[in-house]
Amino acid sequence: MVRQKCIERGQNELSTADYSIIALGLQLRLPILSADYALVNAARYFSSLNILTPGKKNFVTKKTIKYCSICKVFFDLKESFCDNCGNSLVLKKEKMR
Ligand SMILES: [Zn+2]
Repeated sequence: MVRQKCIERGQNELSTADYSIIALGLQLRLPILSADYALVNAARYFSSLNILTPGKKNFVTKKTIKYCSICKVFFDLKESFCDNCGNSLVLKKEKMR
């Protein structure tokens, strides 16, 4: 049914896996989370489907590092004390660039 409807709408560049995802979403009433443009577009033909398209800002990777609050210096995770002042390091989450 999904494949039929997509082809009727001129969307025929989807793989069998893509059709299956849409079909499962419909069957299980679960939202589809995808950044695949073709798949998201086709999923919009099915009004009962909920589609979540993650923007880049939703996928920020954070790296945990050690930090000396006195010297404002970052250290490797395996370090426990600051090389300069001996202060115990705190864990900090840093956004990766
Ligand atoms: Zn220090």
